Amino acid sequence: LIQIYMPLNFLGFVYREIKQALVDMEKMFGMIRQQSDINDAPDAATLKINGGAVEFENVSFHYAENRKILKDVSFTVDAGTTTAIVGASGAGKSTISRILFRFYDITAGRILVDGQDIKDVTQKSLRQQIGVVPQDTVLFNDTIRYNIRYGRPDATDEEVENAARHAQIHDFVMGLPEGYDSEVGERGLKLSGGEKQRVAIARTILKDPAILLLDEATSALDSETELGIQQALEKISESRTTIVIAHRLSTIVNANEIIVLDAGEIVERGTHDDLLTRKGAYFSMWQKQKEATAVLQKLEELDELP
Ligand code: ADP
Ligand code: MG
Repeated sequence: LIQIYMPLNFLGFVYREIKQALVDMEKMFGMIRQQSDINDAPDAATLKINGGAVEFENVSFHYAENRKILKDVSFTVDAGTTTAIVGASGAGKSTISRILFRFYDITAGRILVDGQDIKDVTQKSLRQQIGVVPQDTVLFNDTIRYNIRYGRPDATDEEVENAARHAQIHDFVMGLPEGYDSEVGERGLKLSGGEKQRVAIARTILKDPAILLLDEATSALDSETELGIQQALEKISESRTTIVIAHRLSTIVNANEIIVLDAGEIVERGTHDDLLTRKGAYFSMWQKQKEATAVLQKLEELDELP
């Protein structure tokens, strides 16, 4: 009985691990895929990285035929620079990160990384070079150490802890009774949104990808946590090709280019200063956020009254 039971139990374990990993990726991108129809080309090459420049060339995309999501989108992110994508909810911002990661194939145009069409390289080599810090990180039901090391399974404990230091989560972890061996996830310790995001940042620091995709949190983290995370993110995006999907415009004023997406089309582009001068869509978003921030500050002040 043991002989039969053992392998089955082990298979069950492997199956759960794989399933969990897939669930993690799916949740990470805020979607549940029915089935994968993305295949490597028969002669797919390994992506050769030279700085990680990203180019969208007249890209169109839809999930369902009757509803176009991206319409003729073109932009270039030079190696080592930062491009921010802003726009209303549903504009297609996260879709841009999903198709760059090649969770879906585009319907027209080309996406190039360092001049290579992502359709012509293996998915594995493409994804190895892209680090994602998602909106809502889902952790594995395992230790903190495992969750960070997932970024690069052969990393030493010291490397894991260094990554955690850079992500400003090391001190928090050391304060836990079991430190890096603390179990997290659904069955373990419940971490706050900010703590989970720092674990994701540490994981990405360890992975050391050429291209970074940041899908900014919409939820209001407290401003101290927020600042820490912001600093950690700035550090990893330094000298790395970065695409940031931004909700709070104050975090992207230094981006090399800001793209305003509206219903799947680029309606404005330029630096923060360019776009303010233009007094168009970006300008009104900026004004609105300034007003909202002022109101929030007033409310906080009232809250602090005796
Ligand atoms: P944003 O990130 O700008 O809020 P998304 O890129 O997530 O927008 O989504 C763009 C549009 O595509 C939305 O209208 C959304 O409902 C739709 N969409 C997103 N994922 C899917 C999917 N898997 N199947 C069908 N429609 C989807
Ligand atoms: Mg989104």
